[in-house]
Amino acid sequence: MKCISYVRFALLDRIADNTNRLLIDGHRTASASGGTFQTLNPATGEVLATVAEAGVADIDAAVRSSRAAFEGAWSHMRASERGALLLKLADLIRRDEDELVRLESLDSGKPVSAIRRQDLPAVLDTLTYYAGMADKISGQVIPARPDALTYTVREPLGVVGAIIPWNFPLMIGMWKIAPALACGCTVVLKPAEVTPLTALKIGELALEAGLPAGVLNVVPGFGKVAGQALVDHPDVDKVTFTGSPVVGRQILQGAAGNLKRVTLELGGKSANIISSDADIDAAVKAAGSGIFFNTGQVCSAGSRILAHESVYDEVVERLAARAKSTRIGDPLDASTAMGPVVSEVQMQRVLNYIDIGRNEGASIVTGGARRGDAGYFVEPTVFAGVRHEMRISQEEIFGPVAAVIPFKDDEDAIRIANGTVYSLAAGVWTGDIARAHRFTKKLKAGTVWVNTYGPTDIRLPWGGSRDSGFGREHGDAAIDNFTEPKAVWINTGR
Ligand code: NAD
Repeated sequence: MKCISYVRFALLDRIADNTNRLLIDGHRTASASGGTFQTLNPATGEVLATVAEAGVADIDAAVRSSRAAFEGAWSHMRASERGALLLKLADLIRRDEDELVRLESLDSGKPVSAIRRQDLPAVLDTLTYYAGMADKISGQVIPARPDALTYTVREPLGVVGAIIPWNFPLMIGMWKIAPALACGCTVVLKPAEVTPLTALKIGELALEAGLPAGVLNVVPGFGKVAGQALVDHPDVDKVTFTGSPVVGRQILQGAAGNLKRVTLELGGKSANIISSDADIDAAVKAAGSGIFFNTGQVCSAGSRILAHESVYDEVVERLAARAKSTRIGDPLDASTAMGPVVSEVQMQRVLNYIDIGRNEGASIVTGGARRGDAGYFVEPTVFAGVRHEMRISQEEIFGPVAAVIPFKDDEDAIRIANGTVYSLAAGVWTGDIARAHRFTKKLKAGTVWVNTYGPTDIRLPWGGSRDSGFGREHGDAAIDNFTEPKAVWINTGR
């Protein structure tokens, strides 16, 4: 058994560290300005750690270091060696799993049970999947002309700026780091300012695994300063971003400077459609986790539950019962199912939306308030009587708030489901295979789930369109994101 006291010691050590320093070019360093910020524990509202705050000069240093690593050690390595280093990193993550789980939980408020069941396995799966791909990225011989040998090679783009949100810091971070490194790019990772700690730990483990200095730099800081500096930097080749549509638009503008490639994974207001012929038990169970998992802070949360009018009352009643029975509490307690939202700002945003829903005339069946006065807990909330045009049906709340909307027939359900600015994900519950196919065809979404809600897998493309962004992560798509083809034309003569 792993020595618990060691784990606790290492964790306290990290948290008590006078500053959790930036990780640039293989060194833990204070920021150039000496600036720091605090990260809080959302379950208590107390200060968890002081963290060095990256400014423009630090981002510049990180980008220079990543450029040097890209031109140097990383490019000189065999692809299979890059893959082996990613596997080594996976081993170290397994070794330090307890520390990572607790750190992620303390910093984000996510329950340890969920991190162990979902986030950590996804991180390891992502690493091993792309480790295996590193030496299988190839071009094509394309017989264009009889007097030439013409072929393509896939080359890494260069320095990648990865900007991530706070809802799945470890998992979304790895969705970007692993494929970028497998492709031979180097990465400057900017975690969200409210959850910087596990990114720094991953950076340290990467060094311990043997990744050369500069291959992965980690620069916590604020979006408007550190994030923007990374986006504006002329020597960054690609920005891969997960976050809000508002910031996504700012990133596009910043990236225009040197025409960086950009991938945007943004928000959602996904519909989970329950037809009259659905297995209502299974549908309601999944609808509950679809909106309450991770306290509703999921881009693909099934925040709009569309129930056929013949089953509407039953769905509302059962969903409310599930909400009431959700175990809310200390995220470090293994039996906790739902923790706090990530910050006071986020809590106020969610509570404000609950007021908006009330004022719009929707009725709260359960929840609707803050839970307790320590930390940022919000009750799982179910709104009934929601109309499609209401703001709580159109806008992303990013909290544990379900809007249950009735529909008359399939066409009505599709009209409502497609009727927001988002197109990230959708679910449909039905016992009729033909109906399922009609829905999958007509729903505007990057992912459509049938008789399930919410699973993702690194092998399947992930992303959306319209205000949910563009480009796809995962699978082969991520390899395309971090490489570009070079055409080679060798004149052979006839
Ligand atoms: P956010 O957009 O506020 O912040 C995301 C990241 O961008 C943070 O690291 C932040 O510091 C940085 N940032 C902020 N302003 C910036 C700027 N001007 N330039 C560069 N970087 C900047 O989002 P959030 O509040 O952290 O996360 C919630 C949002 O993320 C939601 O809208 C959610 O739907 C979305 N999200 C999408 C997915 C997906 O896969 N589609 C996954 C998770 C979260």
